[in-house]
Amino acid sequence: MKFKDFKFKSRLAYAINRAGFEEPSPIQEKSIPLILEGKDMVGQAHTGTGKTAAFALPILQKTTKSMGVNAVVIVPTRELATQVADEFYKFSRNLGIRTATVYGGTSYKRQINHIENAGVIVATPGRFLDLLSRNKIDIDPYYVVLDEADEMLNMGFLEDIRRILDHLKDRKQTLMFSATMPDEIKELADTILKNPEFIRTEKAEITNNNIKQYYYVVDEHERDDAIVRLIEYADPDKAIVFCRTKRETGRLAEYLAGQGYKTAALHGDMEQWDRQKTMKSFRRNEYEILVATDVAARGLDVRGVSHVFNYQIPMESESYVHRIGRTGRAKRDGVAMMLVSPQELRELERIKADVGSELELQSIPQKNSSPEERLKELFQMVASQRANKAGEVIVDAMTEKTDVKTVAVKLALLLEKTLRQDGGIGKSADEVKKLLEKGDSDDNKKSSRSSNRGRSNSRNNRSRSSSSRGRHARSSQRIRRGTGRGQVPEPQFKKTSGGSRIIARKLY
Ligand code: AMP
Repeated sequence: MKFKDFKFKSRLAYAINRAGFEEPSPIQEKSIPLILEGKDMVGQAHTGTGKTAAFALPILQKTTKSMGVNAVVIVPTRELATQVADEFYKFSRNLGIRTATVYGGTSYKRQINHIENAGVIVATPGRFLDLLSRNKIDIDPYYVVLDEADEMLNMGFLEDIRRILDHLKDRKQTLMFSATMPDEIKELADTILKNPEFIRTEKAEITNNNIKQYYYVVDEHERDDAIVRLIEYADPDKAIVFCRTKRETGRLAEYLAGQGYKTAALHGDMEQWDRQKTMKSFRRNEYEILVATDVAARGLDVRGVSHVFNYQIPMESESYVHRIGRTGRAKRDGVAMMLVSPQELRELERIKADVGSELELQSIPQKNSSPEERLKELFQMVASQRANKAGEVIVDAMTEKTDVKTVAVKLALLLEKTLRQDGGIGKSADEVKKLLEKGDSDDNKKSSRSSNRGRSNSRNNRSRSSSSRGRHARSSQRIRRGTGRGQVPEPQFKKTSGGSRIIARKLY
């Protein structure tokens, strides 16, 4: 299924395409038609499944800018409010529909002004109830969405929600999303929804046991460096790297080509002819790496794909199964490696539980582990650097008061230091353990707060901060190797046995 099958209005379809979305995720495929038909629904879906777009897109389809506030989305935390508003903004900016965020701790006046011009409100319960009960706002929304209802329950917001819904009695459609379905949430659904449809996505299972599966925990900004190191380390015959969006696919393919790998991108926006040409070249080993979206690579049967790399964690367990199944075909062995950010660890746990497979945690192999190797690279870097006038001007300025040799020694040491620091990316097993423990204790704190209706901003690891999305700033310490397009670089470091030392970094 494709987004165009929903027949969204052209500006919305354009925004979906620009966001790089290729195919609806399972929760979107099931929810969007129901919401468009006007049904109330409960979706059992967690963060990362595309649940926000599952309700945002049909709401935007049915909203015009002259309607005033047509939808209210209630979320448990301020962070989620920002994330949801960002997702709405992504699709609505060229529809002229504004989104107002409403949460405690900021000025009433500004929020009320924003609401006056908004088509959608994304709010946390406390402040929103405050505005409604003090008659500070006069709204009559068609849609009310309760997002992460189980979190709101945990945080003690259930009573506030009931009171909010009393204020919004004239709503026509109520939608509820929740990762889990405790009894209280089922009861809430029974009392506030009209003949709701229940939706949950199916589990997937891995049938292929000859695929070794590893994961690596890296910060968001380390993904590019990490994927290059993994590729160097694994030295694949042929590999597929999976991304979530078309845009990311194109960007990463260019980046890897710039790093010297024979790389092609494959995504659903390419003409059929182009796709076939790319596939043919990949089959004939003219490319060693194919960077693809899930859709483009679904069912792809190419012999000799030795490795599958997941640049990002897939949205659904089912996609994980599809992705890794591109290797280990025809009874051969395969390897699947996945980059996971600390914020995605919870999603990873869910995938592991769903697919019932063993994913082994490993550390990103270190670069330049020995001083000799660093020296070799330093020589290569200096030798391959072309001299020019601008460089001469710098050296002239630097040697005005210091002799050339001293300046050269200092520069060499600086360069060497940078190379040394370039060694540590990713988290060690200990760090990952601590992250998971931290996530658990955050959860416990949250449930113990539920009785006294805590309104802290802390959120468990299931949510991703907006800054952790789609940004892939390169590490400032990155050193380019200077290999040209089309050349395959020499492997640069030794294989480690999973015990490579990773420089400890502060996480938050
Ligand atoms: P959510 O579960 O709503 O937090 O979404 C997780 C991430 O997936 C967000 O960055 C979305 O923009 C992205 N996303 C949602 N739907 C799709 C889709 N159909 N294709 C690609 N990315 C998507």
